[in-house]
Amino acid sequence: MKRDNFKIAVFAGDGIGPEIMKEALKILKIISDKKKIKLQLGEGLVGGCAYDRFGVPLPDPSLALARKSDAVLLGAVGGPKWESLDYSVRPERALMGLRRELDIFANLRPIVVFDELLDASPLKKNIVRGIDIMIIRELTGDVYFGKPRGVKKGKDGKRRGVNTMAYSEDEIRRIAIRAFEIARARKKNLFSVDKANILESTELWRDVVTEVGRSYSDITLKHMYVDNCALQLIRNPAQFDVIVTTNLFGDILSDEAAMLTGSIGMLPSASLGDKTALYEPIHGSAPDIAGKNIANPLATILSVALMLRYSLSLPREADLIEEAVGETLKAGFRTRDIYQKNKKLVGTEEMGNVVAKKLCKLIN
Ligand code: NAD
Repeated sequence: MKRDNFKIAVFAGDGIGPEIMKEALKILKIISDKKKIKLQLGEGLVGGCAYDRFGVPLPDPSLALARKSDAVLLGAVGGPKWESLDYSVRPERALMGLRRELDIFANLRPIVVFDELLDASPLKKNIVRGIDIMIIRELTGDVYFGKPRGVKKGKDGKRRGVNTMAYSEDEIRRIAIRAFEIARARKKNLFSVDKANILESTELWRDVVTEVGRSYSDITLKHMYVDNCALQLIRNPAQFDVIVTTNLFGDILSDEAAMLTGSIGMLPSASLGDKTALYEPIHGSAPDIAGKNIANPLATILSVALMLRYSLSLPREADLIEEAVGETLKAGFRTRDIYQKNKKLVGTEEMGNVVAKKLCKLIN
């Protein structure tokens, strides 16, 4: 039976976080009112604001709230005020804590270039026109967690740094399943990216992804080496639909792909676990523009769309939000970061209001 009741944890965070979150919640409210979906929103503190109040960036009440929620919506954390703190209590530690405690293992980064913002891309228009890529990055394995690790002095008195690239079969299988499912709901084309010609851990990656693929005969699976993928993302990004890759390669490729759009204020993300998921814009807390009503709220609004699609099983409503953002851009509204000549310059709040208006029109 389709659920119509969800719990959402809302962490606005620091810097521009509260401003962009306010606009995202406006959009969420329209969906819940018009579609008669009951949303229990629980607000909490994470990041620098949580440190100021509780002395830690991820206090127990916030973690408890996240754990009992179907999804977590986050603004951004961090800022110069907290930069001199010990690493263990820095605002950004809240993100790692949330990912770890919520057993999050897949990071999704949609890379969409809106026609109206083609000029913002550093690449030629004919290369980036129409691109719509989903990059899925594994988050729990690889060199970031493999052991042994560290820097040690050898017998010769010289230091040696070591990290271990390791993957278990189960880690690969669960992300591969997610990737095939996501590809199934899109254009059914999946690229798995590895370096199986050199690295044994990714040879296993390739084997397991291929095995999982046998249960998804409707999906076209192709394998690509990471160096070729880095090149192809610039040469011909339109060939990609869904890309699934390891933690390290995903870290680098997702930032490379983000630059195809040229506008950091437009990019949402989702981090999925088995029980819950975390949705946030990819940008940070932008302390340089905080409190000035000039931040672009669209990445956070688009993160709400991802939440509807992947945690609340409301794909149609997710499409409507994305359409409303497209219509807003088509009508010429721009925040300062994506401003182009002869367009209408608007602030954070007005941008949210225009998207809200467009969404109401599309729903009715
Ligand atoms: P940033 O993403 O906050 O800002 C980089 C540049 O992009 C700035 O010029 C900023 O004004 C601009 N920008 C970012 N988001 C924008 C938006 N929505 N609209 C318009 N312009 C926008 O990165 P940074 O300056 O390196 O980091 C600032 C703080 O954010 C640091 O404390 C950093 O650790 C933290 N951070 C947090 C996250 C997160 O919460 N997920 C991610 C990255 C950085």
